[in-house]
Amino acid sequence: MNRIRTGFALGITLAVLAGCAPKEMPPTAMTTPSQPATADTNTTSTVTKTDAEWRKRLTPEQYHILREAGTERPHGKAYEEFKAQGAGTYVCGGCGAELFSSAHKFDSHCGWPSFYDPANAKNVRTREDRAFGVTRVEVLCAKCNGHLGHVFKGEGFPTPTDQRYCINGVALKFVPKPAEAKTP
Ligand code: FE
Repeated sequence: MNRIRTGFALGITLAVLAGCAPKEMPPTAMTTPSQPATADTNTTSTVTKTDAEWRKRLTPEQYHILREAGTERPHGKAYEEFKAQGAGTYVCGGCGAELFSSAHKFDSHCGWPSFYDPANAKNVRTREDRAFGVTRVEVLCAKCNGHLGHVFKGEGFPTPTDQRYCINGVALKFVPKPAEAKTP
């Protein structure tokens, strides 16, 4: 069973690495994107709960991703909802911290929500992830240490930062921007 789960996770990992670069990227660049700084950042979490409390607060899928560093399948329900969402803010599905903004969304064609910058950098933490023999930069909520996804840099996307925060949609909660007050 563990072997099956590990194999599935590895497949997802390779899909993350290989399936999200722009179509015009040369193969070498697709497999070896440069990585953002890997220093562990923003390590002071302020939301701490017991495992039992997290299990009670989160859905099983949210728990798997946020607390067990899981990965949702690409092009899933959360991603389809993400694509349809308009202006607003994305907060942590675990603790509600502001993480990303619709202003920084872009379509990377990878099947997971993509942002080129965090909305509130102090709420986003990064650290090196060497799972499955691949070095990547993990993205976490700095407030509750929930796993969000990974960030890749230098893939050639035409965005202001050329960074791709590849985030699990299940780990986020969308807060629509309030409608503009109508003037008489
Ligand atoms: Fe959080």
